[in-house]
This record gives sequence, C-alpha cells and structure tokens, in this order.
Amino acid sequence: MVKRVVKKNGDELFPLGLGAMRLPTKNNSIDREVAMEYILYAIDNGVNYIDTAYAYHGGESESFLGEILSLTDEDRVKYRDKVKLSTKLPSWMVRSREDMDAFLNHQLRKLQTDAIDYYYVHSVDLSTILRLKNLGLYEFLEKAKSEGKIRNIGFSYHGSPNEFNELIDDFNWDMVLVQYNYLDVNAQAGIRGIEYAYENDIAVFVMEPLKGGLLAGELPKEVSDLFDSVDSEKSSVDWALSWVFNQKEITCVLSGMGSLEEIKENMAIAERVEVESLSDEELDILDKAQGIFNSMMKINCTGCGYCLPCPKGVNIPDCFNVYNEKYLFNKKMFNLIPHAMMNYYMVVGGITNKQSNAGLCNHCGRCKSLCPQSLDIPNELDRVKSEFELFGFNYHIKFIKNVAMPSINKIAKVFDFFKNS
Ligand code: SF4
Ligand code: SF4
Repeated sequence: MVKRVVKKNGDELFPLGLGAMRLPTKNNSIDREVAMEYILYAIDNGVNYIDTAYAYHGGESESFLGEILSLTDEDRVKYRDKVKLSTKLPSWMVRSREDMDAFLNHQLRKLQTDAIDYYYVHSVDLSTILRLKNLGLYEFLEKAKSEGKIRNIGFSYHGSPNEFNELIDDFNWDMVLVQYNYLDVNAQAGIRGIEYAYENDIAVFVMEPLKGGLLAGELPKEVSDLFDSVDSEKSSVDWALSWVFNQKEITCVLSGMGSLEEIKENMAIAERVEVESLSDEELDILDKAQGIFNSMMKINCTGCGYCLPCPKGVNIPDCFNVYNEKYLFNKKMFNLIPHAMMNYYMVVGGITNKQSNAGLCNHCGRCKSLCPQSLDIPNELDRVKSEFELFGFNYHIKFIKNVAMPSINKIAKVFDFFKNS
C-alpha cells in the first residue's frame, strides 16, 4: 500500500480517512464503547486521518474524538500523535468575525488539542465564502494559521460546478473536500473542479464515495448483474471505492464506518487499489454501470454545468441530480422521510448561504439553448418543484437555516457546559 502525499506539506496519508459524521449510536447518542473500538482499530491498523465537524452528532462528535485521541496505545504513544485531525468551521452559524475565533477556540477545547491539522470552512458555495469574506474570514484563517492553531486551510464544497474554480483562485487553499463517486462525476465540484485543484497542488479529500450509502447496498438489477458478470464475489462497495482510489488526483477518501467489518473491508480496498491500478476491463464495467444509471435517469442531465449561472440562482444540475436520485433509489427511504427530500432541502438552501431551488426559476429561457442534452430546463424544473417543494417550502428552508441548524450550536454548548461543570 502506498500512502498519498499532500503536496503542499509532505504529509503522507493512508488513502482511507475515518469520517466521524455517522458513528454508531445508541439511545440517540454516540455508542461510545462501540465507536471507540472501531476508531482505535482503524488507527492501530494504519488509518492516520480522522475527520469531524462542529455540527456532527449534535456537537458530540468533536468532544468524543477529543477523549479518544487523548488516550495512549500500548507503547504509550498518544493517539492524537498518530493521526492528522480535521474539523470544520460551521459556516452557516457564523454571524461575525468574533464568532470565528469563538468557534475555533471552542473546537480546540473539545478536541483537547493545541492545533487542528486540517481546518475546513464547512459546506460552502461561492456566495457563502463571499459573505464570510466580508466578515473577515481570510484574515481569521491566516491569523489562526500563523498562531499555529490550524495547520492547513480548506473548504468543503456544496456549490455548483461553474463557481468552484473561482473559489479555488480566491485564496491560498491547502485542500478541498468534495462529494465524488462514480455517479456524481460532474456534480458540485465534479471531475473538472477536482482536476483544477490537483493542478494547483491543492489536496483533494473526497466525501460521499458511496453516495451516502446508496452505492453500498442493493443496486438496480441491471447494474448488479453487470458487476456479477465480472466477479460475483466483488461487493458494490469495492466497485465504488476502487473507482475513487484509482484516480491520481485524490489524496484521501473519507468513509463513514457503521461496523468493524465495514472498516476492515474499506481498509483492505484502500490498501489494494493504488493509483491507476484498475484494469481496462474494470474501468469499462464501471463506465457501463454509469451508462445504465444514466439511462434510468428521469431527467437526462449529465451535470456538465453549461447552463450555469442562472440569473435567479437556481442550481440546475443539483436540482436534477436529487430528483433522479429519488427514482433510482426509491427503495431506500429513511423511515417516513425520503432521503432525496432531505437531500433536496440541504442542497438548495438548508445549509448554504442562498436558496437555489427549482421554484426560483422564472422561465426566462436563458439556459435552454446552452444545454447540450437539449433539455427543456424550465419545464423540468417545474417537475422538480412540484415533487419537492410542498406547501410551506420556503418556511421549511428558513426553519432549517435559522432555527434547526443554529440550535445544534446551542445544544452543543449546553452539552459542553454540563460536561465541564
Ligand atoms: S429559465 Fe429558469 S433556470 Fe433557466 S436561466 Fe432562466 S430562471 Fe434560470
Ligand atoms: S446544461 Fe443540461 S446537461 Fe448540463 S447541467 Fe445543465 S441541464 Fe444538465
């Protein structure tokens, strides 16, 4: 297994990072015993990058990791010294320059460390960064770096493809965190954004390599038959992760870990699949799988982004992507709330600075002639709107942005207060 090097600082990372967003839970809280077993196993066996965020597990993820990383192994080496630690500034909760310092200092306390190795501005698009920039974001990041509180600076991206490169050029970023998997080749940053970051020596970390778990389980029959025709023993997870690990532009892939078996399987794949090691036959099969998925799309959008920017701010490819996902994976509802519906709320405004939902379209028609797929974009957006933007949609978005997400902050502070008192 070859570790991957972060070009700007020489850090050597195991290609699989541990994501602490979806740790095992019990009674609505992290199952500390089980999660600790998983995390220590991963670190003891080579994982050396661990990723969390202020908001994960209602604020509990950072405190929990702080406790674990303060432990020592049997050779009396502190776990904190065995990993690179990443966390994120909750962009949607920041209202002032002072907030930025307050969040970072709070995070350092929770994580029981003097410095964050990789510090991201969490869940941004271009307008979010511009809002924070006006509040002094870049000065805050540079000062925190010069003081040694953070060592590398990046952002996690949830914007549209046409804005990514502009964001890359706006600051001296060390790394980015992007959603990427064999279905989301062009979504958000997309392959063109990833290549641009790589060309600029910016380390690329990948989230959602399994598309929130959708590529990990039961796939459409045509796709699973295709995979089985090559190797019936190879899992859907193996195909999906191999596709990402194979690419030279990728530094490290984050994967949530629901069980010890999952951790072992993912680590074994990371060790086996080196850069550009997939055979032509394997790549051909993955191309065909993409083709099958694309043929099943309700709206034949490739995510190329040529229709952007929309003057009303509609994130056209993401609206179509979420709509297609609803039909491709409609067996996978999370209890009564469809995964696609929740995803839609988040993607089009729940955690971004500006709303970008289908309902903003005023049928100006500017985008129609730009689409190489000749999609009737305004009418397709109407379909999306009619299924996702139910009664009170704009109030729901405002509630998520202004009440639900800030509440996580307050809950975390209360939790911390009782814990430390
Ligand atoms: S038709 Fe709608 S989506 Fe297309 S550019 Fe105009 S407002 Fe934007
Ligand atoms: S131009 Fe067409 S295919 Fe490309 S992202 Fe826009 S709607 Fe999709």
